Amino acid sequence: MALHGSSITGVMAERGHEQVVFVADRDAGLRAVIAIHSTALGPSLGGIRFWHYASEADAIRDVLRLSEAMTLKAAVAGLHQGGGKAVVLVDDPDRPRADELLRAIGRAIDELGGRYIAAEDVGATPRDMDVIAGETPWVTGVDEALGGSGDPSPVTAVGVLHAMRAVCADVFGDESLHGRRVVVQGAGHVGTHLVRLLHDAGAEVAVADVNHERAARVAAEYGARLLDHRCALEEPCDVLAPCALGAVIGPEVVSTLQCRAIVGAANNQLTDASVAEQLEVRGIVYAPDFVVNAGGIINIAEEFVGYSRARALEKAAAIRETTARVLETARSLGITTEQAAEELARRRIAKEALPGGRWRPGSPTAWTHGEPLRTLRPPRPRR
Ligand code: NAD
Repeated sequence: MALHGSSITGVMAERGHEQVVFVADRDAGLRAVIAIHSTALGPSLGGIRFWHYASEADAIRDVLRLSEAMTLKAAVAGLHQGGGKAVVLVDDPDRPRADELLRAIGRAIDELGGRYIAAEDVGATPRDMDVIAGETPWVTGVDEALGGSGDPSPVTAVGVLHAMRAVCADVFGDESLHGRRVVVQGAGHVGTHLVRLLHDAGAEVAVADVNHERAARVAAEYGARLLDHRCALEEPCDVLAPCALGAVIGPEVVSTLQCRAIVGAANNQLTDASVAEQLEVRGIVYAPDFVVNAGGIINIAEEFVGYSRARALEKAAAIRETTARVLETARSLGITTEQAAEELARRRIAKEALPGGRWRPGSPTAWTHGEPLRTLRPPRPRR
């Protein structure tokens, strides 16, 4: 997303952003930007990122890009949510944040009346979210004891498993994972749950992590094969599941892959859109990450209707059907799977947008056939 030479409102108009809010609080040392890309399907939802940006332009570019991606993710997941994001400019993301700064961003979020609902993102800790929740009810991912949904990774992993079944049905003509060779890159929160689920489903799992001890522990617990993290992506397998960091699949990696499909939780797995085309040329089916890892956002969205882990897991099962539709759409339109997922998201927004195309505080949040379905209530009472 180019910002240099163009005005911020110019980029907003071009990419469809509704609102960008600049926030500063001198006493609290806060500098932040909140971007609401779309509330066409409901209040915007997205993480707060605490990051050291080389320049303010970088921060703005990031928040505009990430908020737009959240719109697509929520829309294709079938949620009554829009896309938003917040970035807080900090010198050192690893240094604990002062309560005053967290309360100041909490107040700024509160002033938006629910048009932006915060969640945890890079640099944010559960404690940060708890402090922010002291100033606004429009925050998710707080501690379960405070009425939040807690750790989303078990639900995310279940969603990945469903996506994998859809891809196996498409590629191998059989959705069963029994005997399928799956490589899981990253034995963190999602990776560990995924290895467990794959083990239970009878798959032949191999796992790798830069933290060798962590991978070894997970491998031993679930009878998986331990791989050197430096060659995990090149390991021959049926399905490769990137569950570590983003940007792991670039042009130089594509030629070394020995998998039939890529289905993983990591955000932004491809370095750029051209990689999707290169994968297609190599006959490797790529399930778009924002479709596959939607379990996280599905889990959070359950907070608005009174959180239930059982219901979140049930809803994550829809990822199987969505993945199948993405693969079919790509084939029928002759486009990449990533483009197909975006197309499905845009079609849903065009069909199911709220009257007026925007959500306003106090309005119903979900409509069917022109009738209000429910009114948003904050995830929990103000403390
Ligand atoms: P995590 O930090 O718990 O785990 C990531 C693991 O990857 C760590 O163990 C880390 O050591 C390892 N790792 C880093 N670089 C690696 C490399 N090059 N090779 C092998 N291992 C490497 O994170 P998580 O919560 O499990 O999330 C994993 C990915 O899924 C992230 O990209 C995250 O953005 C995405 N995601 C997570 C959720 C969720 O519910 N947690 C939801 C949606 C998307």
